[in-house]
Amino acid sequence: MSGRGRVFAVWVAAALAAAPHEAAMAPAAAAGSPSGAAAAPVAAASVATAATVPVAVASVAAATVVPAPAVSGPSAGAGAGAGPAATTADAKPAVVPPPIPAKGLRLRLDEGVYATASGDGQIAVEALARRGEGLAGFTQRLCGDARLAPQLLESNRLPPRSRLKTGRRYRVPFEILASSWQLKAARALFPEDRGDATGWRHQVRGCGALRRENLWQLSEWFTGKGENFRAIREYNNLRDEDVARGAVLTIPSELLRPAFGAALPVPQRPYVLAYGKDQDGEYAVYRLRPGEALYSGVVVRFTGRIYAADVNALAAEIAQRSGIGDVTDIPVGFKVKIPLDRLLPEYLPEGDPRRKEYEAGLRASSHFSNQVQAKGLEGITVILDAGHGGHDAGATVGGVWESLYVYDIAVRLKGLLESRTAAAVELTTRDGDAYRIVESDVLPVSRSHSVLTNPPYAIADPVVGVNLRWYLANSFYRRALSADDDPQKVVFLSIHADSLHPSLRGAMAYIPAARMRDESYGKSGQIYEVRQEFRESPRVEFPWSQRVKSEGLSRQLAKQVIGAFEGLGLAVHPFTPVRDHIIRNRSEWVPAVLRYNSVPSKMLLEVCNLNNELDRKLLQTRAYRQHVAEAMLKGLLAYYGQSASLPAVRVAHAR
Ligand SMILES: [Zn+2]
Repeated sequence: MSGRGRVFAVWVAAALAAAPHEAAMAPAAAAGSPSGAAAAPVAAASVATAATVPVAVASVAAATVVPAPAVSGPSAGAGAGAGPAATTADAKPAVVPPPIPAKGLRLRLDEGVYATASGDGQIAVEALARRGEGLAGFTQRLCGDARLAPQLLESNRLPPRSRLKTGRRYRVPFEILASSWQLKAARALFPEDRGDATGWRHQVRGCGALRRENLWQLSEWFTGKGENFRAIREYNNLRDEDVARGAVLTIPSELLRPAFGAALPVPQRPYVLAYGKDQDGEYAVYRLRPGEALYSGVVVRFTGRIYAADVNALAAEIAQRSGIGDVTDIPVGFKVKIPLDRLLPEYLPEGDPRRKEYEAGLRASSHFSNQVQAKGLEGITVILDAGHGGHDAGATVGGVWESLYVYDIAVRLKGLLESRTAAAVELTTRDGDAYRIVESDVLPVSRSHSVLTNPPYAIADPVVGVNLRWYLANSFYRRALSADDDPQKVVFLSIHADSLHPSLRGAMAYIPAARMRDESYGKSGQIYEVRQEFRESPRVEFPWSQRVKSEGLSRQLAKQVIGAFEGLGLAVHPFTPVRDHIIRNRSEWVPAVLRYNSVPSKMLLEVCNLNNELDRKLLQTRAYRQHVAEAMLKGLLAYYGQSASLPAVRVAHAR
């Protein structure tokens, strides 16, 4: 008991040093302790550094875009037995609030509201019930949703339908707190924590006698799911499952609870291009900003190249054109010249014919938007297509097969759609004889995927596999139309994971550009001809008006899905996340599974970039894959006019 007053004293000083306005949250007990007074706020110091240090504009790996682990780079902590403590050993003043004592801690957040933490790391809020407020009002105030009242009663060991007593204090578990209270409680308990561009930087305060924090627990606090501990451990290169006091680690933005994700800074700023001409022809000029690399900041952003070989080749060309000798040492503000014919049309000067054509296409297709509102996706058919499978593993990086992971996401999405909505779900492929969600982070190898045509096709040749997918999707579409003749009640969603330049992260969607699709098309050959879906309709016909309409609807769908990724804090490709064609190796095309697909609303989603280390690690966690499936569900609901809140709907008669 004697230690407690001292502990609080240090705590107050630390809180004052870190965030003056939060001092009010600290207990009034003791002020004016000397310790910690000299400490500069950590985050402020590191922000200033980021903004002012002359930037070594990165060469290859574009380290400026790849989020680096909390402190000194990916290999930090690799030192012998170093563990997390070593990752904090850079020149940062240590303002570590005292550990959470074994007896627990209570901090005032507001009138009658306290954040509490126990010595074993349970965090919660306790609040006094106000006069006349009642159970519903109390629950609404603290949880943001009165429907959580039963959970609230249960966590206070009260029988169902109990009444709250005015002036009595009730406990609200962190799990069911409203986002705003979660954030307030966490900020009070962990005053050194900050959001930055990559995620939430958490300083380990330590709990109880051991003065450590357990990764599982920490993962529950900040992400809502203990299972994310593995992703956090890998992201921070930690060796242990629990972390010593004083360590600083980053919880990547895509794993964060919405409360913390929403608190991260948004680094977006507008940029400007100027245009000019010299003996080599017309060019656009972009002035590099601090922290920007030639690869991501210029090539990826303005030319749309994303594949590593393309990005590197064009970066070299632009470097030469701009007189850059050393791409690893480009001064901030340097005028980078981009040949005009390499620019994406939207970055061309106003009035340029290619830009005008592009804008006319956008205008024409924007007249078409989905008019169908479907409560709980009632009456909607969702066709899910997991890319690759069988002997076509798709992209394979670091032992990760695209085919296995995107299939898992498709099956998870199928499960969500079937449990939470009334949509009819069709999959184009299946692994083995039934759909199973494998409850492991790293997925076992399988080559048993077939395209579910009649007869099925055990996937051997990737090209045949793709063609049979669109034949099958078109067959599903015809069947849906024969039941309900509304083309907008069917959506097609193909799920992939890309392998792009390693600096890129996050999701990206492809939709079919009307101008890049054929008017009519069909395959021939026995492998197709023996299948019912082919015989139903061997050729597809797409008149111009239909292609334009499909482009418009698909763009709307893709924007909703990408928006849902953003809304849930999942990484999204930094530039042009919705694209109407692929650019690779000097050719441009629409993926075949979309190009010959009759479903008007369709998209191909690249959930992440397997060449990016963090994306690849995340993909190898169930929690992330589930999160991705939830984002897609949310996007589909939004496309059909449903509120974006999750869980969105529960339909009693869902199949
Ligand atoms: Zn793929």
